[in-house]
Amino acid sequence: MNNFTYCLPKSALEAANQKMSDPAAQFIAGGTNLVDRLKVFLDKPSQLIDISQLNLQTIETTADGSLRLGALVTNTKVAENQDIRRHYPMLARAILSGASQQIRNMATVGGNLLQRTRCPYYYDRAFPCNKREPETGCPAIEGMNRNHAILGSSEHCVAVHPSDMCVALAALDAVVEVISPQGTRQIPFSDFHRLPKNRPEKDTHLEPGELITAVTLPDSSKNPSGVYLKIRDRASYSFALVSVAASINLDGDKIEGVRVALGGVAHKPWRATEAEEFLIGKSFEENSLTEAADIALQQAQPLSQNQFKVELAKRAIIRALKVSAQGGGIV
Ligand code: SF4
Repeated sequence: MNNFTYCLPKSALEAANQKMSDPAAQFIAGGTNLVDRLKVFLDKPSQLIDISQLNLQTIETTADGSLRLGALVTNTKVAENQDIRRHYPMLARAILSGASQQIRNMATVGGNLLQRTRCPYYYDRAFPCNKREPETGCPAIEGMNRNHAILGSSEHCVAVHPSDMCVALAALDAVVEVISPQGTRQIPFSDFHRLPKNRPEKDTHLEPGELITAVTLPDSSKNPSGVYLKIRDRASYSFALVSVAASINLDGDKIEGVRVALGGVAHKPWRATEAEEFLIGKSFEENSLTEAADIALQQAQPLSQNQFKVELAKRAIIRALKVSAQGGGIV
């Protein structure tokens, strides 16, 4: 861990101003990923801006019926909130499928969005890594890549985003609120994270000095039968090989609405929009679900060790939609 200074701002704007004045500074809240990175010199901030005491710790219903999650609400409080469990159950289930209770007690909404890939080469300084040090190479492409991306990757990086919560937020069309010295803005969740392209060191579209203040769940994304299906090597405390956040609304056997987002397959939570569009108006039957799953994975480009993820993701999509049609229930 390098030496750094420490400050405790009294407001979100003060924190954003502090960050703007020192680009090498970093925000810290729960610290559940950042402290790990500090300990192995992955991050070497000039100062830590401690935002943990800011007034961003409430869950509230807004005038238009949306649910607004303060950026510092812990993952545990989100997962235990009765409105979340009743109206956005895929989010509660996604959170409870990740990490451990102790980590969820510390981890925050904003921090969850900003956690970085768990690609082992990224954390091991004995290897080059384009995400850690641009233009040094990506050993995962020819190396151990069983857990890596099958969609949206580039010749510069094949890492996956590690979050479960963000997969549900992608399916729910969440909106990220940020503040900076220039003011505030709202970022649709699908535009928050980025694909690696030729800049894998950048995970998000945040601008310098921007601080996440809240994540809003639209009223329109309420769905009591939303599910989160996570497939992993161990039953707990393990990242997803493939995960699916899904919900489906039926009128008889006709599909009126559907949401599908995938985790463990790309550098960002992956919304399967083409598969969703295909399903609208179709009959809820095996052939439709199978074709939709094929569409969702038609752009897949698996690596040497993760071809299995393509079929796994297809089957997970079909299973998640079937469970949602039956009322939900997967954790
Ligand atoms: Fe680094 Fe990305 Fe390659 Fe992993 S996949 S070694 S994070 S560049």
